[in-house]
Amino acid sequence: MRHWVACCLLSSLAYAELRVGAAAVKITPPVGLPLAGYYHVRLATGMHDELYAKALVLEGSGSRAALVACDLIALEGDLVEAARQLIERTTGLRGDRVMISATHTHTGPEVERQFLAFVEGAPRQAAERYRAELPSRIAEAVRLAEAALTPARAWAHIGREETLAFYRRFRMKDGTVQFNPGKLNPDIVEPVGKPDPDVAVVYFDTPDDKPLATYVNYALHLDTVGGTEYSGDYPYTLARLLGQVKGPGMLTLFTLAAAGNINHVDVKSPEPQKGHGEAQRIGTVLAGEVLKSYARLKPVVSGPVRVLSRRLELPARQVEPGALESARDTARWFGKPGGPPFLDMVAALRTLDLAGRGGKAIPAEVQVVALGEEVAWVGLPGEIFVELGVAIKRASPFPRTVVVSLANGSIDYVPTKEAFAEGAYEVISARCAPGCGEMLADAAIGLLRDLYKR
Ligand SMILES: [Zn+2]
Repeated sequence: MRHWVACCLLSSLAYAELRVGAAAVKITPPVGLPLAGYYHVRLATGMHDELYAKALVLEGSGSRAALVACDLIALEGDLVEAARQLIERTTGLRGDRVMISATHTHTGPEVERQFLAFVEGAPRQAAERYRAELPSRIAEAVRLAEAALTPARAWAHIGREETLAFYRRFRMKDGTVQFNPGKLNPDIVEPVGKPDPDVAVVYFDTPDDKPLATYVNYALHLDTVGGTEYSGDYPYTLARLLGQVKGPGMLTLFTLAAAGNINHVDVKSPEPQKGHGEAQRIGTVLAGEVLKSYARLKPVVSGPVRVLSRRLELPARQVEPGALESARDTARWFGKPGGPPFLDMVAALRTLDLAGRGGKAIPAEVQVVALGEEVAWVGLPGEIFVELGVAIKRASPFPRTVVVSLANGSIDYVPTKEAFAEGAYEVISARCAPGCGEMLADAAIGLLRDLYKR
């Protein structure tokens, strides 16, 4: 009996230390804005499902941090900076204690400057206005989540889903490596890597069992819908189904794991894989894994919420002599029919972007948020190759490490050194020089080790 009392006093003490608040603010733009995701301009004609900025504020032993996910393709550094300044002014959180990430939906509005530059007229003005309003919506989500802080318990489990995600770079019969070479392509030899099946689930509820939030992280590109309607892609279905089980009061917050070279295309199947049906299939299977995980959750002993960040200067790739002139020529075809091959356009946009930077290093923030000694979130500012995410998780001293792509800015694709040598789309698009991915991973591992048992 004495033992029972001691155990429960101890556990209620652990719960009492943790407070959690969750909130979501709609960020769906009006129709008519340019949509993100592809190398041509397409204007939104409607909305399939609402887009959100979702925020989770964690407070452990009095110290706070926030995790934010926005249904957007990416968030450039200036937007993150502006949102953090507003958060500092309107909440008790310091800006650098907030991780602001984008889910990478390809059916959200275009907010990246490098692509907005090709949009003209009223849609461009509307997009600029929308972009300018984003920081205040993000800050509002954090403010509401902070206001909702309530005593909570944390639980975690890493599930496994092996049927949805595919490595999208393939060795071909001619010895080259190609990105998404097409379904049933007879020249495919094999993929040059494998996906990461981890489905990280961190669940929060009140001490009297009321669901507060489910945080889900998975490595699979959000490019399954297409078309011209706003949609959060498969996380929309994930959130809808989990909400049906746990009640509408629970927030589902999805973030993208390291999925720069991972998508949903199964080249061995002839079935078309685009549209809302496909997004719902993926969201439903993923929800199934999360629902199974609820039964396997282990309590997280909370403690102070710690945050550590490091700002790196990553070497930029060099613009080859003469490349700028031809890049300007190629870019003139952006969004117009009959233009140059796709990869030439990708290379041209990279060249223009790099030339605009004038050879300067690319600033990149690496951030780690830790809850007790069990769960850590790593924020990295780009489309991180899966191998880098797996390496960080393996080296982390935390039993459960969550790697979040497109967090606190975006530096475009971040391939591994090996991939840089192989070439193909993501490498042609990448702005940072070979080795940048390993620099980010090393910095993340260093921060994880510094934070552990601190
Ligand atoms: Zn992408």
